[in-house]
Amino acid sequence: MTGFKGGCLCGAVQYEVTGDPVRVAQCHCDDCRRATGSAFATNVFVKEEDINVLQGETNSFQHTADSGSTMTKEFCGNCGSQLFGSGSAAPGIKNIKIGSIDDVGDIKPQIEVFTSKSLPYTPPLDFTEKFEKGRPR
Ligand SMILES: [Zn+2]
Ligand SMILES: [Zn+2]
Repeated sequence: MTGFKGGCLCGAVQYEVTGDPVRVAQCHCDDCRRATGSAFATNVFVKEEDINVLQGETNSFQHTADSGSTMTKEFCGNCGSQLFGSGSAAPGIKNIKIGSIDDVGDIKPQIEVFTSKSLPYTPPLDFTEKFEKGRPR
């Protein structure tokens, strides 16, 4: 597949991505749990230049990760859906929360990170490469 579309819960923000994901990572870290309000986050990493926001605009929030990187979360200011994330350690790359994608098709995580933090009822997937912490650079 090449490209996909997505948007937030209320529909105010709509986007399209023109290229294929560079990586898909299921993250069990505390920050992703807090930010999504869910048991883990599935982050679809894409080139920033491949994202076109078709409608609406996002608000953003920044925080510092344990790694020291500045992380930016972009979300709909109306309904609060998280759409995009980025980190100062990976310029030019953004991650898209998989739940915002209209039709995920064959997009699925290749790796799981921070598995040391995963909730006990979140079983590991049998098709991912796993890292107890972040993905080594
Ligand atoms: Zn919205
Ligand atoms: Zn995370």
